[in-house]
Amino acid sequence: MKPPVIGICRLCKNERQLQNSHLLSAGFYRAVSDKTSQNPHPILLTRGGAIQTSRQIRAHALCSECEQRLNNRGEDWVLDNFWRETGDFPLRQMLKKAEPVWTREREGPLQIERNRWS
Ligand SMILES: [Zn+2]
Repeated sequence: MKPPVIGICRLCKNERQLQNSHLLSAGFYRAVSDKTSQNPHPILLTRGGAIQTSRQIRAHALCSECEQRLNNRGEDWVLDNFWRETGDFPLRQMLKKAEPVWTREREGPLQIERNRWS
């Protein structure tokens, strides 16, 4: 068993035991895998080229509390509503109906509603 990694959490900035977090959700990797192919893994683009790999990008970046916060307040919802197969999907429908928060016509600073996710 590997020893725990202690460091500064990139979100809460507290010194904590860091999780070996997926930078892209494991659910996303499952969703973009081609289950009908002999090599179902997604294509990874790097500076050196493109390879098809089962490797998932991970890093010790977040404490368990922050990782759970991101899961509960975003990732789980996105995984339930993003593209899965051909055709339309809930996230796309919502984005098509949404008003932009910034447009070139307004040329103003980006206005973000504060405390929306707290
Ligand atoms: Zn944290």
